[in-house]
Amino acid sequence: MEQEVAPPPEARSPEMAPPPGGIDIGSDHVIAYAEWQGEAAGVTDWHRKADGAWCCGWVAFRGAKWEKSFTQGITAWDVVQRDPLTLSPSLLCRSCGDHGFIQNGRWVKA
Ligand SMILES: [Zn+2]
Repeated sequence: MEQEVAPPPEARSPEMAPPPGGIDIGSDHVIAYAEWQGEAAGVTDWHRKADGAWCCGWVAFRGAKWEKSFTQGITAWDVVQRDPLTLSPSLLCRSCGDHGFIQNGRWVKA
């Protein structure tokens, strides 16, 4: 079981890089929390491609106000554990094919 992540529009420039507040989860992966209406809406999953450039995908949290604001439903991940973060299912990058899990606050390659 896997779900595809895609970069948010603002993260599609070639100079893109994780924000200063990003959290290193290992294996060249950095996550950055996004807040909406006072709670975590999800994380951006930053990861390095084979050429060394950063790639990024948006990972919405199921059940968050942001996710619930979409009446037709959107792709979202279950927050199995908040801290350290565990998400389900796995994350498959639509842009570069990077595939793995966030488990116990660490990146686990699929
Ligand atoms: Zn990617």
